Amino acid sequence: MTIQKDDKKVFERELEDYREQIWGCARCNWCQNQWGWSVKSAEFSEICPAFHEYRFFPYSGMGKMHIARAILEGDFDYEDAPELAEFIYTCTTCGACEMNCQRLQDKEPLKVNEALRARLVRDGIGPMPAHQTLIKSVKHYDNPWMQPRSQRDKWSKKLGLKDVSKEKAETLFFVGCTTALDATMTGVPQNTAKLLLAAGEDLGTLGKDEICCGSPIARVGDRETFTALAKRNVEILNKTGARRIVTSCPGCYRALLHDYPEVPGVPPIEADILHAVEYLDLLINHGRLILANEIPMRVTWHDPCHLGRHCGIYDAPRNILKAIPGIEFVEKERNRDQSWCCGGGGGARTAFPEFAAKTAEKLIHEAKTTTGADAIVTCCPFCELNIGDVLRRSGDSMKLFNLVDLVAQSVGVK
Ligand code: SF4
Ligand code: SF4
Repeated sequence: MTIQKDDKKVFERELEDYREQIWGCARCNWCQNQWGWSVKSAEFSEICPAFHEYRFFPYSGMGKMHIARAILEGDFDYEDAPELAEFIYTCTTCGACEMNCQRLQDKEPLKVNEALRARLVRDGIGPMPAHQTLIKSVKHYDNPWMQPRSQRDKWSKKLGLKDVSKEKAETLFFVGCTTALDATMTGVPQNTAKLLLAAGEDLGTLGKDEICCGSPIARVGDRETFTALAKRNVEILNKTGARRIVTSCPGCYRALLHDYPEVPGVPPIEADILHAVEYLDLLINHGRLILANEIPMRVTWHDPCHLGRHCGIYDAPRNILKAIPGIEFVEKERNRDQSWCCGGGGGARTAFPEFAAKTAEKLIHEAKTTTGADAIVTCCPFCELNIGDVLRRSGDSMKLFNLVDLVAQSVGVK
């Protein structure tokens, strides 16, 4: 019997559950290209970074559907293609294939690829060796960066935030591993906290007790480790009694909001979950934050895949950018749900750094040639790391900002 796609939670679905979808792939290639009437030029008409780089169908969404079919029906053994893991793990999980396929064919090529990853992990073929280090780090240190737990709240010294393990706070700031632990990024959580305090929020954090949301683990297909993290996180978060959870990381946001409810046996989070950009837009609209200082600059917005395609947040960052005095906002040719991924997600940057860098180069090139902007603005620490590395290495004059930092500058928080 064919199991329909909605009968099971995403993190319990096996390849068998996608049999009907896999056989139904029409080989139409909508998963590789910009949605028809969004196309403005041949140069920027594609949407799958993996297919664009490798020019071979197994790297595309369609290719994954056909690899899945062959494995499912026993037409293919792992020994037949030593490159199999590379085909499956060069995908950045950007979701562009699924976004476009759903419009016409109602299939889920990205979820099929995630089920393929889970199958490879089960059979000892995946994830890639570089991902094993990341998983070990999360298991030993509760973060993917091999950092001791004692470093986790270093960014927040002198900010006077509540420790929610000792006292209640209405709003819990879930910081996320990357901005909490990467010394080049601690300005993002600091400015997020300062802005929320300036707006009068009763704000706390989990301090050293915050643990990885598990997003990178989920994306590389280690369902067992992800399920354990999801359960631990929900227990920790619900114990705080916070009314809302705000995070400045799109990966954490997607994990808490959309992934946890799809993990069998994980209870619901008893709080509203918001991305910082979404909440800042609201606070600005309600007059609780005033964008007073001018920032004279022409900027474009990079939609992080985890915030845009995966969670549907496109307007909030654009509203904010348009409201900052002095900023001239201009769209890249590919934008919103047709945005070009930065190349950093889904474990691609960890295992295939050259591919991730080339994908970011293409994003920067598009930003330059189609907008003439002075700066790319985004709000995802992974996008910032990946795009930032390429800009630094090439000595490019294009600037890169986290939106939270621009809001802090315009509001004038100290
Ligand atoms: S995965 Fe979807 S969009 Fe891609 S070829 Fe198959 S049916 Fe078409
Ligand atoms: S998720 Fe993105 S990188 Fe992966 S196959 Fe789909 S379009 Fe390509």
